[in-house]
Amino acid sequence: MQRTYQYRLYPDQEQEDALDTILRQSCLLYNEALEHRRDVYKHTGQSVSYPAQWERFREDRKARLEDFGLLNATSVQQLLRRLNKAFAAFFRRLKDGDKPGFPRFKPAQRFRSVEYRHGDGCQLTGDRLRVQHVGEVKVQLHRDVPQGCLKHVVVSRKAGKWFVSFQGDDGNEPAEPRTDGKAIGIDMGLHSLMAFSDGTLIDNPRWLRRSLKKLRKAQRALARKTRFSSRWWQCKRRVEVLHAKIANQRKDGLHKLTHQLTEEYALVAVEDISPQFMLKSRPFALSASDASWNLFSSMLDYKAERAGCVVVEVDARHTSQACSGCGHIQKKRLSQRWHSCRCGVQLDRDVNAAVNILKRVRSGPTELNVACS
Ligand SMILES: [Zn+2]
Repeated sequence: MQRTYQYRLYPDQEQEDALDTILRQSCLLYNEALEHRRDVYKHTGQSVSYPAQWERFREDRKARLEDFGLLNATSVQQLLRRLNKAFAAFFRRLKDGDKPGFPRFKPAQRFRSVEYRHGDGCQLTGDRLRVQHVGEVKVQLHRDVPQGCLKHVVVSRKAGKWFVSFQGDDGNEPAEPRTDGKAIGIDMGLHSLMAFSDGTLIDNPRWLRRSLKKLRKAQRALARKTRFSSRWWQCKRRVEVLHAKIANQRKDGLHKLTHQLTEEYALVAVEDISPQFMLKSRPFALSASDASWNLFSSMLDYKAERAGCVVVEVDARHTSQACSGCGHIQKKRLSQRWHSCRCGVQLDRDVNAAVNILKRVRSGPTELNVACS
């Protein structure tokens, strides 16, 4: 199975400077490659191919040592492929009759990662990561890296800390789907983070809410500072650190939740939140919880695969309006938290939706022989 393992890096000052330079050079190359594509498109209306760009920047890499001297050839290829993908998506949307935004230039501080192929400019030996032009950087190997995962390597910077991720096949096969056991439906709640069909409501834990409050305060402080002043930079760093902390807290909570779900249940029904469904089924974008939900569903997917649990995505239209007892459609305002029906069903609005989501799996054409209890 495809897996990613991430570890903390502890570069010394000299190594950190070199890593910073690599990110800066990568950013410069990315932006120049983007400019090249934009120019060609403006003049000819044509797209530049990836091989043509590689041809051009392979030469540049050798000729402009000052600008690109620390870059690894494979890293540059990965970078140009990333850009190629962005443009392919741009042209696809153009063809579909959308009005897509042109791929944008990236400011250096937003350019946070560089990719390698293991054994090419980047290699793990013991607890040291040898990075070309940087040296042997200490890695906190808090657990072993499966041999098969030593393939695609990403070195990244987040809020002043450095990390390395190894991606590849860990050699494990997905578990056989369990054929007995319990099933549960989950709704992306309107008032809570998530609601389960068994009546459980999941909310952001108190410590996460506390961090969010601190973040809002720091963001307000940042907005009051003069841009690029030393106080502004100080404040900006604080915002970044808090962002990273919140992301970690959220991730940690979701890891535990998804682990518990996939261990306990044979089937988990969730709403399909692919864009076309979102547009139809959601009254407005719940941007903050969307991020959590995306992370939740990707964790749920890979943990389910390992545990032999089946995840089913269902069309969630009207699940919050319909009664889970009798099916009667009952219009509710967004502020209305309680579902009470003439048939006697009394439920939290989001729990009612979660029960409906689970019911859609049972009623729909499905070959799953899971005992839904
Ligand atoms: Zn009812």
